[in-house]
Amino acid sequence: MVETKAAEMTNPFRIVQGQLKSAVDNLQLGDDVYEFLKEPMRVVEVAIPVHRDDGRLTTFIGYRAQHTDAIGPTKGGIRFHPDVTVDEVKGLSMWMTFKTAVMGLPYGGAKGGVVCNPSELSARELEELSRGYVRRLAAVLGPELDIPAPDVNTNPRVMGWMLDEYDRVRGQNTPGFITGKPLVLGGSAGREEATGRGVVYSILEAMKRLGIEPGRSTAAVQGFGNVGSHTAEFLHETGVKVVAVEDVRGGAYNPEGLDVPALLRFAHETGTVHGFPGSKDITTADLFALDVDVLVPAALENQITAAVAKKVKARIIAEAANGPTTPEGDDILHQRGIFTIPDILCNAGGVTVSYFEWVQNTQGFYWTAREVNTRLQDLMVTAFEHVFDMKEAKGVTMREAAYVIAVHRVAEACEARGWLRLPTDNAVPAPALHIIGKKR
Ligand code: NAD
Repeated sequence: MVETKAAEMTNPFRIVQGQLKSAVDNLQLGDDVYEFLKEPMRVVEVAIPVHRDDGRLTTFIGYRAQHTDAIGPTKGGIRFHPDVTVDEVKGLSMWMTFKTAVMGLPYGGAKGGVVCNPSELSARELEELSRGYVRRLAAVLGPELDIPAPDVNTNPRVMGWMLDEYDRVRGQNTPGFITGKPLVLGGSAGREEATGRGVVYSILEAMKRLGIEPGRSTAAVQGFGNVGSHTAEFLHETGVKVVAVEDVRGGAYNPEGLDVPALLRFAHETGTVHGFPGSKDITTADLFALDVDVLVPAALENQITAAVAKKVKARIIAEAANGPTTPEGDDILHQRGIFTIPDILCNAGGVTVSYFEWVQNTQGFYWTAREVNTRLQDLMVTAFEHVFDMKEAKGVTMREAAYVIAVHRVAEACEARGWLRLPTDNAVPAPALHIIGKKR
C-alpha cells in the first residue's frame, strides 16, 4: 500500500461531497441541490453476533448506506474488510448514485460493509456473518428497495447465503433481492467478469481517442481479485501486453509481458500472484511508476496520492477500483496531461450487468453470455461517448464531465418528484441524457 500524506484528503465521503459540489456549481443548479444530495438518505448500523468455531462469541459491526432513491431502488455492493468505516460506506453509496446515473440505469446508490477480516474466519463463521448481516437489515433491503451485490472480499458464494437468508425471512423466493449470485440461483451469465470487461471496453475507447494501438501497448494492474484479474485477462485477450500485476501479498513483473492465462491458474492455485514463475517481485511504488501505456488501480481507495501522481508515466489511468485517486493526485494527473477514466464510468460494468441480472430475475427469462456482453459493450461505449463529448464541450476533465452528467440526471429526477426546484434560468445547457443506452 502506498503511504498517504496525513494532510491529503482521503475520506471517501468528503471527497465525493467535493465532487458533487463542483458539479452542482458547474451546472449552476443552486445550493439546494448540494444541500439535498450531500448526505445519504439513510444509514443503518448493525451489530452481528457470530458463534466462533472455538466456542467464543464475537460481535461484528456492519453498515448499509442508501444515498438517494430519486431514480429508482438503491443498489450497491457489500464489502468485508477490517478498514471499513461508516464514512467509507457513505462515500461509496454516493459514488454508486453517480455511477448508475452516468450509465443511465434506473437505480440510486447504496453500499454496505462489515468491519472484519474474512481471512481470519472459517467458511462456517463467514456464512453466519453473511446471514446475520441480512437478518439485521432485511427490513430496508429488497428488489424494489435496495439491492446488494459483491464488493471487496465478497463473492457469489456469499451472495448465495445472503439470498437464502432473505428468502427465509420473507418466506418466499426473491431472486431479484441480490445480484452477483451463483448462476444456479438466478445469477447472470457474464456477471462475475463484467466489471473487468467494462474496464477494458472503456480503456479501448480511450485508446481510440489517444491514437494508441492495443496490440502495441503495455499495462500494469494493481489488485488481482475479481476486478483486477478479469481486467488483466481481457487486456491480454485484446493484445495488450500486461507487464506487471500486484495483490496484497506482493507483485509479479516481467517487462516482456506476463503469460496471463498461466498467471490466472497460478493465482487460483496459490491465492497470490507473488512468486509467479518467470516474474520478478515489484513494489507498489515501482508498479505505479512503470513506463506503461495503461495503469489500472483495481484494489482500494487512495492509492494515487500527489506523490505517486508525480511519478506516473502511463498515458491512461483506468480507475477500476472505487476512489483510487486522491483529489490532490487527480489535480497532478490532470496538470500532467494523463488521461483518467473516472471510476464512476470505468468500473460501471459490474453494476450494469447487475442491472441485467435484476431485469432477468424480474422477467424470469435468462439471456446468453453473448447477449449480456453485447448489451454491456453498447452501454459502456455509449456512456464513454457521452462523457467524452461533455468533456470536450465544457473543456473539463473526464471526471468532471461524468459528474456533470450524473448530477444533472439525479437533480432532474428530484425535481420531477417535486423534491427540489431547479433554477429556471439555468444558463448551462442540459447535457445529453440517456436512459439505458438510448440518447434522447
Ligand atoms: P477483491 O476482494 O476480489 O480483490 C481485491 C484485490 O486487491 C485482491 O487481489 C487483493 O489482494 C488486492 N489488494 C488489497 N489490498 C491491497 C494492497 N494494499 N495492495 C495491493 N493489492 C491489494 O475485490 P474486487 O471486487 O476486485 O474490488 C476491487 C475494487 O474494485 C474495489 O475498489 C471495489 O469497490 C471496486 N469495484 C468492484 C466491483 C465488483 O463487481 N466486484 C465493481 C465495481 C468496483
